[in-house]
Amino acid sequence: MHEISLVQAMLQQLSDLAARNQATKVIKITVEIGQMSGVVADSFRFGFEVLSGNDDLVRGAELVIITPPVSYRCTQCGHTETTVTKPDCCPQCREVFLIPEGGDDLILQQVEME
Ligand SMILES: [Zn+2]
Repeated sequence: MHEISLVQAMLQQLSDLAARNQATKVIKITVEIGQMSGVVADSFRFGFEVLSGNDDLVRGAELVIITPPVSYRCTQCGHTETTVTKPDCCPQCREVFLIPEGGDDLILQQVEME
């Protein structure tokens, strides 16, 4: 599963961050997963639950996953619709071919440690 390696990378990042801040415990992690990133939020959460259980630093930490809205630009009239779910067609002219802009990132947005 692709998401497991992403969780592993995040845990590594958290451990570096904790060492730098002399923290021993992660309380809360906020991750932004773009709709176009190809990452399944549920799989990411599952991977986190499995891996964090073996990691003293993050065990019991709260994982918050945010899916930011994506802008879809209409190829016909140029209208841009910003939404969290992909529209079936352009709300202005009913064109079905819409181009997503952005939303392909996985970002560690916020970490609370102590
Ligand atoms: Zn349109």
